Amino acid sequence: MNTTQIAINVRNVLAELPSYVQLVAAAKTRSAEEVIAAIDAGVKIVGYNYVQEAAQIKAHVDRHVSWHMIGHLQRNKAKKAVELFDMIETIDSVELAEHVNRHCETAGKIMPVLIEINSARETNKSGVMPENTIKLVEQVARLPQLRIKGLMTMGAFAADPDDIRSYFKLTKQLFDDIGCRNIPDVCMEYLSMGMSDSYRIAIEEGANMVRIGTALFGARYR
Ligand SMILES: *Cc1c(COP(=O)(O)O)cnc(C)c1O
Repeated sequence: MNTTQIAINVRNVLAELPSYVQLVAAAKTRSAEEVIAAIDAGVKIVGYNYVQEAAQIKAHVDRHVSWHMIGHLQRNKAKKAVELFDMIETIDSVELAEHVNRHCETAGKIMPVLIEINSARETNKSGVMPENTIKLVEQVARLPQLRIKGLMTMGAFAADPDDIRSYFKLTKQLFDDIGCRNIPDVCMEYLSMGMSDSYRIAIEEGANMVRIGTALFGARYR
């Protein structure tokens, strides 16, 4: 998409979002030029699904923004992810958290993380099952280099918006429940949910971070 249109889309979405909602520009498959256009129009957080792609684009983007990992993180990419990202939104197992923690130790870095919830309970999808969330939060909270800052969910494709809403409601309930438990070193600050076709519903259900790609950059062709 041309950079003028991207700038218009970014400004429109930012104008529409309540001021407490943070926009993550989901930038998979976009060129550095497109990402820069979004940043110059007001994007403060850029999200990537793959470590390699983030590294390539980041090398060409000399702007001061935050970089979030929003895709499933493979354990063997944890080291590179620690170098590249300011937040990892997709922690869903204690093993992955331990890998990230170890590389943070070596790098002398504290990593803010979100716990990814498999709110649609789809087998073979990433995210922790809702009923296992509290236990995972307690385990990750003990890792010295990680700081749990909230929850993230994808939900699932649903033709009926009410189905999407139920995934967001469930995740918000977990968010509130964990927040009430006063677990040491856990701060339920960010609830990351909602994409181009669902962010309005997500905000109604309590999201304060939305991850938007298509509505900023146009349709994806690869
Ligand atoms: C691609 C993606 C988004 C944004 O999806 P759009 O429908 O393009 O807005 C949000 N979150 C994740 C994890 C993604 O991979």
